[in-house]
Amino acid sequence: MSIFESPAFEDHEGVHAFFDPAAGLRCFIAIHSTARGPAAGGCRMWPYPSDQAALDDALRLSRAMSYKNAVADIDLGGGKAVIIGDSGRHKTPALFEAFGRAVDGLRGRYWGAEDVGVSPADLAHAAKHTRYIAGLEGHPAASGDPSPLTAEGVFRGLKHCVETALGKDLADGTVAVQGVGQVGGHLADKLAAAGAKLIITDVNPDALEAVARRTGAEVVSPSKIFDADAEVFAPCALGGPVSRETLPRLKAKVIAGGANNQLADPAVGRAVFERGITYAPDFVINGGGIINVAAEIRALERGEAYDPAWVEGKIARMIETLAEVLARSSSEERPTHEIALEIAKARIAAAHR
Ligand code: NAD
Repeated sequence: MSIFESPAFEDHEGVHAFFDPAAGLRCFIAIHSTARGPAAGGCRMWPYPSDQAALDDALRLSRAMSYKNAVADIDLGGGKAVIIGDSGRHKTPALFEAFGRAVDGLRGRYWGAEDVGVSPADLAHAAKHTRYIAGLEGHPAASGDPSPLTAEGVFRGLKHCVETALGKDLADGTVAVQGVGQVGGHLADKLAAAGAKLIITDVNPDALEAVARRTGAEVVSPSKIFDADAEVFAPCALGGPVSRETLPRLKAKVIAGGANNQLADPAVGRAVFERGITYAPDFVINGGGIINVAAEIRALERGEAYDPAWVEGKIARMIETLAEVLARSSSEERPTHEIALEIAKARIAAAHR
């Protein structure tokens, strides 16, 4: 199939391919939309089985960034970079310097940051050749690790869902957390501090034990988390935990977590709605991290320092958007993820006008 006929390409402003054989760089940078501001999204390094697989991933992820940034109401569009290669074997300073030159060639239409397989140290090499990189360390505009802010947004969104959908306080509820890594671990701490009872799981026994020890959570095996006796299911691991297979097992009345792409497919979102479960769409409540990155880009552009008050305002606005999504879902009797997508698309269209 030609690139222009691919459904993944639909609505993209452009996609750029960069090839630097001497540096070992093979990379795509997809720009879905710059209507709301420069396209921003992480740079992923992954051993894709083919160029086509890398291109499809870049296109899919850049569009998702447009929606996430619009719903977070930050002045950024959506973009994504993917570097083809094994981050454990093929990383070199020269490769990331070549990536920096590629980013610079787009003259600010795309801002890069870290993602799977790419660290702040790698980005420091890229930043030798471009100023359009966020997520660096050790300067006044630096935003640092995004995961605590992602967890803060998820915590507030989850609390809002419990209060509005279940009419109860978090302290009277039980939350099942799938994955207690960076986001899930911070979220578990916040939930425990709010008095919620926790049931947690992880495939990494060290992470699981550390979080259980400090929160007093009950531990279950990864396969049993879907049967947990909890009012809330908080997916904080990988994509696709809510599927046709797992949904009938869930006792939860609220799904709210940090993981990207929680619904295995959009049809599952309708089944979630029909079962009377309140789903906080992932790209609405996990925007705290990109808000943090936006704060760094804003500070760099203005020559200012990172501003925590601006970040707080945007996180509060994100929870207002979630409240709007839930209210419309109930009055229009439609799934939350459909409404959230509509809000994102309307904000992008308004910026175009
Ligand atoms: P992480 O790797 O630190 O944590 C993920 C955890 O999930 C790990 O501890 C891992 O062992 C565990 N896990 C993997 N498969 C599992 C399974 N089948 N069952 C149980 N546990 C499993 O990653 P993270 O940064 O905490 O991100 C978690 C999710 O949140 C991802 O989907 C990520 O895309 C999304 N997200 C993260 C951020 C951020 O700021 N880090 C922002 C937005 C979205």
